[in-house]
Amino acid sequence: MKLKLYSNNTRFAPSPTGYMHLGHVFSALFSYKVAKKLGGKFLLRIEDIDSQRSSKIFEESIYEDLEWLQIKYSKDVRHQSRNMNDYQGALQELQKLDMVYPCFCSRSKIKAEIMRAGNAPHEEENSIYPGTCRRLSKEERIEKIANENSFAWRLNIRAASKKLGNLVWNDLRLGKYTVPVGTMGDVVLARKDVPTSYHLSATLDDHIQRIGLVTRGEDLVNATHIHKIIQVLLQLKSPIYLHHPLILDSNGIRLSKRTRAQTVKSLKASGLKKEDVIGLFGKENMLSLLNFIK
Ligand code: GLU
Repeated sequence: MKLKLYSNNTRFAPSPTGYMHLGHVFSALFSYKVAKKLGGKFLLRIEDIDSQRSSKIFEESIYEDLEWLQIKYSKDVRHQSRNMNDYQGALQELQKLDMVYPCFCSRSKIKAEIMRAGNAPHEEENSIYPGTCRRLSKEERIEKIANENSFAWRLNIRAASKKLGNLVWNDLRLGKYTVPVGTMGDVVLARKDVPTSYHLSATLDDHIQRIGLVTRGEDLVNATHIHKIIQVLLQLKSPIYLHHPLILDSNGIRLSKRTRAQTVKSLKASGLKKEDVIGLFGKENMLSLLNFIK
């Protein structure tokens, strides 16, 4: 069956919080090749809402590495940090719909979760927010909003599911998913000091940048459930997804900044050529993945 997309654009959306490693190269290269195959644009988005962890040095290294790898992206690079008004507007929309509520919890575990909301959840969350602040009265909310210095806005998953019913989406490689509302927690969509989160800004940006096919690692399948809910609530365009396998190290562990995976910078410094780095994935892997795009 021929793939039907509302647009042929794809994107690579790194966070400038570390140097690119092989996992990023695979993701970027795949997305670039998909755009080429579809005849769409390959867009770059710098996901820099976490101002504490993002840095210009890492951002520059992303441009340098992509250039060295000859992965050519469209000139109109989008920076999330420069588009806060867009996210603020989307948050207000969700507030009007009564689909988000303020959370004032200060327990350290919950606070840490709120602080992490600017970054994509590559690691499995081992605790689900118990919904304490969902039960606050309207008066309590108004009073706390006026008096508390820091709080977060959480998506009311149960209210959303009541409104939207069963949501189903399709991954080109992994097949059909139903959003598992019953086992999901109320994720953080924004903070008082930062009117957005990874979930809100990535979903909105995919709409604004007209991304017809979102490609990213399969550790973000659970994030897509949340993005689907946001898309339907805000009546955004609905992309198709392809979550690709992750690049693992020799111990079978996902490459990440945290595990200090070998960076492109260090591979380059050790004398490897672009072809050698790309060759590390095995041509076959990339080709068989591209076969999902018909
Ligand atoms: N900035 C996110 C990351 O680096 C992007 C995730 C996505 O592609 O949606 O993991």
